Amino acid sequence: MNSELQDMKLVSACLLGIKCAWDGKDRYKNKKVIELLKNEILIPVCPEQLGGLKTPRVFQEIQKGTGDDVLDGRSRVKNKAGEDVTRQFIRGAKEALKIAKQYGIKEFIAKSKSPSCGCDLIYDGSFSDKLIKGDGVTAALFKRNAIKVITENDI
Ligand code: SF4
Repeated sequence: MNSELQDMKLVSACLLGIKCAWDGKDRYKNKKVIELLKNEILIPVCPEQLGGLKTPRVFQEIQKGTGDDVLDGRSRVKNKAGEDVTRQFIRGAKEALKIAKQYGIKEFIAKSKSPSCGCDLIYDGSFSDKLIKGDGVTAALFKRNAIKVITENDI
């Protein structure tokens, strides 16, 4: 593998200015993420779109659990309207993992607190801005596959 490929990373697409977030906006707030492009190849992915969810979409949270619980069938992901989107979240995580494996990616720069991308802290499922320890569904699947996950706040 050449040095260029070794520097490739996956990034939550919303952090790079793609308007893929649930509200149809981006999350381009940390300019340090874009500055990484000077030295690294960043591949944008949005697991929720890869899972088949439309944009904009109703806000979603993992219910009483973490991404690991969703992957193990102990928790569901629902949107604020009460619709179950667990299948789309798992599908999106698997599609994102497929991209990571195809490119030999070892690190994912993830949008914090997201039920898909979030790492170490996510919303608790009550739709009241409360946080709990845990990963989003994609972050959890990546960690199970030895891919390092950090957030935009760690750069
Ligand atoms: S799934 Fe990830 S990339 Fe897509 S909007 Fe949510 S945080 Fe951003």
